[in-house]
Amino acid sequence: MTSVATAINLITRADAERLSKEAPAASTCSSDLAKGPWEFDAAEALRGLPAYGPGASSADVAPASTPRQGQLPQEYKDASDDELRARIHAAKQTLGDRVVVLGHFYQRDEVVEHADFVGDSFQLANAALTRPDAEAIVFCGVHFMAETADILSREDQAVILPNLAAGCSMADMADIDSVQQCWDQLEELFGTEPDAEGRVPVIPVTYMNSSAALKGFCGEHGGIVCTSSNAATVLEWAFERAQRVLFFPDQHLGRNTAKAMGVPLEQMPMWSPRKPWGGTDPETLRDSRVILWHGFCSVHRRFNVAQIDKARAEYPGVRVIVHPECPMEVVDAADEYGSTDYIRKAIAAATVPTVFAIGTEVNLVNRLAAEYPQHTIFCLDPVICPCSTMYRIHPGYLAWVLEGLVEGEVRNRIEVAADVAEPARVALERMLAARP
Ligand code: SF4
Repeated sequence: MTSVATAINLITRADAERLSKEAPAASTCSSDLAKGPWEFDAAEALRGLPAYGPGASSADVAPASTPRQGQLPQEYKDASDDELRARIHAAKQTLGDRVVVLGHFYQRDEVVEHADFVGDSFQLANAALTRPDAEAIVFCGVHFMAETADILSREDQAVILPNLAAGCSMADMADIDSVQQCWDQLEELFGTEPDAEGRVPVIPVTYMNSSAALKGFCGEHGGIVCTSSNAATVLEWAFERAQRVLFFPDQHLGRNTAKAMGVPLEQMPMWSPRKPWGGTDPETLRDSRVILWHGFCSVHRRFNVAQIDKARAEYPGVRVIVHPECPMEVVDAADEYGSTDYIRKAIAAATVPTVFAIGTEVNLVNRLAAEYPQHTIFCLDPVICPCSTMYRIHPGYLAWVLEGLVEGEVRNRIEVAADVAEPARVALERMLAARP
């Protein structure tokens, strides 16, 4: 199976003959995806404004505070794929157990092949804990994941993000100042006194895909973190302690999970930051069970019901599985929904050849297709449009940070301040202790 990066190169170079032999006919959402991510790092430095770059989040607005990546030395930009592969391999050999490389499911294959562990954000943070002797944890994922690894790892372990511009547009949609403003208004409206059953008026729940500052906010305000695997368990935990939940940043995960638990849609108002009462009104908020933050993942928002209808028409009997970050109507039209871990396990458990149409990031879907050739597995979105920020991690940056470690230099370290890390750890520990 052709990797996503190779398919993008073939499509954008219009190498039709090779394409028809090596990859399914498809298009990409941007021909810029064939460029090196350093071209966008350089463009941002020139303009002075950050952007998410090509891919699914290209139309999202990056906050001015988004970390920027300095220039990658020319030798890494000029190196061929084979040369980078050899250099990464050599650096890892030299470093041995001193380093652990983590690769998120949505990373390009050319990075994942060097990972000691591959998984979702929380699996990877936990995987790092199994290597307490490693001096450095190189996290090939996005910024909030590296922050979580730093919170959970030993103080003297350095967590490294190969490209600082690898953020997450969804995580950026809820910043600490906007959430604090929302919280102040909710406290003004509801007060802080528990009801007769001891439930406080509102409890904050943040998705793992959020900044450390928001995890810390939840820790300080009796709240909790959730993943896409345990969101229902976490909401149950929260409903035992509160009359309602403020859920951020992903409206879709919040809505899909609460709806499946029987919460009516009219009791799930949306909070849009910077609007009076979040764009809703006090009466609706009083009657609410889940207040949804106006955030979304631009990768999963690309999926729609028409794609599912097309898959069913072309492949009668197809199993459609989508991620809960997809919009509600897509989740409703699918056969199943679940986290990346759920999707992987569902495919692994299929004992007869099956056609799977999957609604999640294309790098993971293509890798599953290669791993399980007995099944037909394809991405519901026919346009190749990877996560813009995962794309910013390229083997060139991985080689650069690993060779830095060989030379004794820690590059791109992600450190969460102790006053944020401490309450964030509390919110993460509450999640680990929550049981179905
Ligand atoms: S896939 Fe979506 S939620 Fe995940 S890192 Fe990319 S933008 Fe963020």
